Amino acid sequence: MSAPLLNVHDLRVIFAPAAPGQPPARVVDGVSFALDAGDSLAIVGETGSGKTTLARALLGLHPAGSVSGSVQLGGQELVGLDEGRWRPLRWQRIALAVQNAGTAFDPVYRMGEQIGEPLREHRGLSSAEATARAAALVAQVGLTERHLRAYPHQLSGGEKQRLMLAMALSCDPELLIVDEPTSGQDMLARAQVIALLRAICAQRGTALLLISHDLAAVSQLAGQVAVLYAGKLAEVGATRDVLSAPRHPYTWGLLSAYPDMSTARDLSGIRGQMPDPTHPPTGCRFHPRCTQAVDECRRVEPPLQLHNGRRLACHLGGLRALLRAEGLRKTFTTNGHLGPAQNVEAVRNVSLEVYEGEVVGLVGETGSGKSTLGRLLVGLLDPESGSIVFEGNPLALNNGSASRHLRRRIQLIPQDPFDSVSPYLTVCQIVREPLDVQRAGTPAERRERVREALAAVGLPTLDAFLARHPHELSGGQLQRVVIARALVLEPKLIVADEPVSMLDASEQAKLITLLEDIQNERGMGLLLISHDLALVRKVADRILVMRDGQIIEGGPSSQVLAQPQHEYTRALLRAAPSFDWYTTSSGGNRP
Ligand code: SF4
Repeated sequence: MSAPLLNVHDLRVIFAPAAPGQPPARVVDGVSFALDAGDSLAIVGETGSGKTTLARALLGLHPAGSVSGSVQLGGQELVGLDEGRWRPLRWQRIALAVQNAGTAFDPVYRMGEQIGEPLREHRGLSSAEATARAAALVAQVGLTERHLRAYPHQLSGGEKQRLMLAMALSCDPELLIVDEPTSGQDMLARAQVIALLRAICAQRGTALLLISHDLAAVSQLAGQVAVLYAGKLAEVGATRDVLSAPRHPYTWGLLSAYPDMSTARDLSGIRGQMPDPTHPPTGCRFHPRCTQAVDECRRVEPPLQLHNGRRLACHLGGLRALLRAEGLRKTFTTNGHLGPAQNVEAVRNVSLEVYEGEVVGLVGETGSGKSTLGRLLVGLLDPESGSIVFEGNPLALNNGSASRHLRRRIQLIPQDPFDSVSPYLTVCQIVREPLDVQRAGTPAERRERVREALAAVGLPTLDAFLARHPHELSGGQLQRVVIARALVLEPKLIVADEPVSMLDASEQAKLITLLEDIQNERGMGLLLISHDLALVRKVADRILVMRDGQIIEGGPSSQVLAQPQHEYTRALLRAAPSFDWYTTSSGGNRP
């Protein structure tokens, strides 16, 4: 096996303190990866993750002494090279197309002179030869000699980005590093830059290191992806695998925040902020933002290692399944009033998983078995067979205090709030009930937690409101009270059974947005049971379709909605509410 073109090992970029007594900034902290000739790798992460600092370290562009570790290009060590020994390398073997080409060019020189500079400097071409070569390069990036005669301010951002690429390619490097090539571009210019990069790398066999937060561009340009968080790699793998099935909680967050045309789900940002590199958190750097962090995460740094075929830095092996149900069955016997008693299989051999921070939509028509399945999962019904494991503990095996503890972690939001609460209880008593059952805290602490739960769902916390009874509340207010009751024990998983079906569209929108926000902030799992596909597609990461007690289809929402495999799913999609003029050729009564 031949050695990789680029071999990066334990690379660190640590900038000296800004002032005496201040800590140094550990911007890149122990990064290792390799890139073969002609291959492509993307480094992705939020702003401040260290991507650009990493790219500049590969070209020796940081102050002496700030970079340590090893960067080998074709076997030659680059860390610690003096400027004289960099001369035959930069532009000629390794070139960088910097971020924000709009400000990277010198405003007082024409573009032709600037693109020709590396050719004159490093290839020793005459001015005439450099001009001819520059003309060929701009043609290759789809521009003309007019662009060579222009000053930077006379060109659009997209044109300057292309010229930056032409300049980086001028000396035909083996490795091209491109920093945020699509950032700030309009959609058409962005598509052109992506097509151009693909064509260039394919034609020339240039290895590509792409630095980007544009995950769609990454999916089109890079074979491998490495996710960088706070200067450390969190997840590495084949781009298709990582972006279609992220395993690290941070990668999951990046994808949930990314506006992709193929997903219908609302966007959700990653809670919290990127840490300051002068004060990185101990243990796993992602732990203050991670909803599944355990004690070890705060103390011990997780190494990047293989977990089930994926390189991850996570003590838990990545996103963990909160709930795993296998082979569940539930049969009811009819009472025989309208004929002979019969056995009805409401749930037939159902298996499913809900992951940390995930919203799973369970859809199907009335009578498909959705609600029975929901009640099995929260323990309100016992299955005849099958198993349910929640946070690693078999549900059926828990009893006594262990069972009580487990129960508080899974809560149900029922369909009809008027049906699910006693009309004789006050708001305070309704929300406090789970705390009373669990004997959690003192009476004063319980009342305070009731107020916190009511505030979380946007309800008043005044004594007068706490003393109200269900008949004194609107449907929307009572459903919020029921949600507050589900939240008061700070559950890890919520099973919401048609939680907004009794409400008008405006209240539905408000409550679903509220549930989404709470779910995202707390990192809970949410199993949303609904017959309303239009609603589910706005919130669900994954959709399961249930019919006659069985799950007949399931997958990422975008996949189930765009390419339904089962005729029943297609029928549900056709029946989902949609304005007439978007679904028929009649055009409807358009305003
Ligand atoms: Fe880091 Fe722990 Fe979260 Fe894994 S579970 S990403 S180790 S905080």
